[in-house]
Amino acid sequence: MAARFFRRSEPFSRSFRSMGGLATVTICGVNPKRAETVTEQVESIFDDLELELSTYRSESTISQLADNAGGNPAEVPEAAWRVLNLAQHFGQLSEGAFDVTVAPVVKLWGFGSNAPPPGLPSAEGIQERMKLVGFRHMILKDRTVFLPVKGMAVDLGGIAKGYAVDRAFEFCRSVGVNDFLIDLSGNIRVSGRPQWGDDWQIGVRDPFDRSRIIGKIILKGGLALATSGSYERFVEVASVRYSHIIDPRNGCPVSGTAGVTALCGDATSADCLSTWFFVLGLKGAAEILQKTQPVDVLIIPDKYPIEIWLTPRFAEAFIPMPELSDTVRILRYTST
Ligand code: AMP
Ligand code: MG
Repeated sequence: MAARFFRRSEPFSRSFRSMGGLATVTICGVNPKRAETVTEQVESIFDDLELELSTYRSESTISQLADNAGGNPAEVPEAAWRVLNLAQHFGQLSEGAFDVTVAPVVKLWGFGSNAPPPGLPSAEGIQERMKLVGFRHMILKDRTVFLPVKGMAVDLGGIAKGYAVDRAFEFCRSVGVNDFLIDLSGNIRVSGRPQWGDDWQIGVRDPFDRSRIIGKIILKGGLALATSGSYERFVEVASVRYSHIIDPRNGCPVSGTAGVTALCGDATSADCLSTWFFVLGLKGAAEILQKTQPVDVLIIPDKYPIEIWLTPRFAEAFIPMPELSDTVRILRYTST
């Protein structure tokens, strides 16, 4: 009798560009045709959200809000409403370190535009724009949003991708796909397990050398990760790199932090937390950890030699590359 070999099915994985970055969907245990269809649906979830939430598309709800600033409250579609409410929540929780109304200052520094900025903005220029920043001035009421001062605008770059990943995650589960990984520009959420092991494992890139992995994170099904890094997006003026994350307290790009990864139960929170803790930096993080427990972050300060700081629970899920195990430190609450 001829032996019959059944080839173990390969995991399905496909990448595409969406929401200004690269998305990868990996699906296990489903036939390729079905996986392809589900991935196409995930792609259209991302594309629809981009049309609504992008700062860079003039017809998006978010751009229209900015056009309407200083005018009247405007009714917004559901996704924008939900994301803006979540953004307000994280604005309050972070006491303004995470603030989506920082948009006018983000623009001033030249982030997001194709042309490099002509030079650094002046202190006066920053002061002027800072008058337009403050999440507490944005009014959300009865499904309407109001930016009361002309020139105010919203930038959802620190939350929208995480939100999109959560919607895609829910969609996949709702159609009975259980073992998958969704990655949208470093905003990752996993479900179930991969077909080659018990848990998903995610490599963390070295913020100083993107070609290198500093370690792996073991991610249980359902959990999410997000990374904010100064290497992801930046502007360069006179050979100095300025990170794309602005400290809303002074209107300047954050310095001192090279990378932050947040581990959470959902991708929206992970996205906000990584941006928020990037602003706080190592010292700020240690000071507020007690208040915001349970928060799990990995922080790499912008200094040489590399140090990898992790909250205790995150440390349990992190396997450093052997040559870097001496550089791992536990990040605990310290009072000022
Ligand atoms: P992420 O890569 O998720 O950390 O998000 C960074 C993006 O969020 C930036 O490119 C800006 O669009 C926006 N952003 C910059 N600074 C802040 C801030 N302090 N709070 C909220 N969003 C910010
Ligand atoms: Mg973020």
